[in-house]
Amino acid sequence: MKKGSMGARSEMTIEKDLDALKELALEKGAVSATVIAAHEIVFDERTVYKCQFGCPAYGRFLTCPPYTPHPSEFEKALRRYKWAMLVECGMEELNRMVVELEKAAMRRGNYLALGLKGHRCYLCEECVPPGEPCRDPLNARPSMSGLGINVFATLAQAGIERRLAMDGEEHTSWGMILID
Ligand code: SF4
Repeated sequence: MKKGSMGARSEMTIEKDLDALKELALEKGAVSATVIAAHEIVFDERTVYKCQFGCPAYGRFLTCPPYTPHPSEFEKALRRYKWAMLVECGMEELNRMVVELEKAAMRRGNYLALGLKGHRCYLCEECVPPGEPCRDPLNARPSMSGLGINVFATLAQAGIERRLAMDGEEHTSWGMILID
């Protein structure tokens, strides 16, 4: 984390919060947890086309486009956050991990903390039919790519080398907690 760029008033509190969240992520089984300034998140609305053309989850899960906010809408909200924690873990644990970290951040006073994740929603085998509400709205979180976040470029920006998994290759997954 780059120090010295935080507001003087809350510098110590935010630093303590971010350290505590990182510790919690590792304690809960994350492979890695990396804090970056939110302005380092690489935003690119073209990611939504990668969801629409070539991803089988498009239109089948409420956490994916076209049900998620369009990147043009989300970017304005994203730019109001100051920090982001990139968290790496197994795909099965990813949803639980981002929700747990989001709640921990909220308990520490970061009320607008928001967890995002890669992939489709794995909380149910199949999502609900069109027009029906989510079965688990307290825990379902949106796909980063669907919102316009270029995950690979953001990881590279954070100094994390990552490439696309080839067929049959096991890879860890990534999520993100946005923090004020
Ligand atoms: S929790 Fe279930 S119903 Fe809700 S978005 Fe995920 S798969 Fe769909």
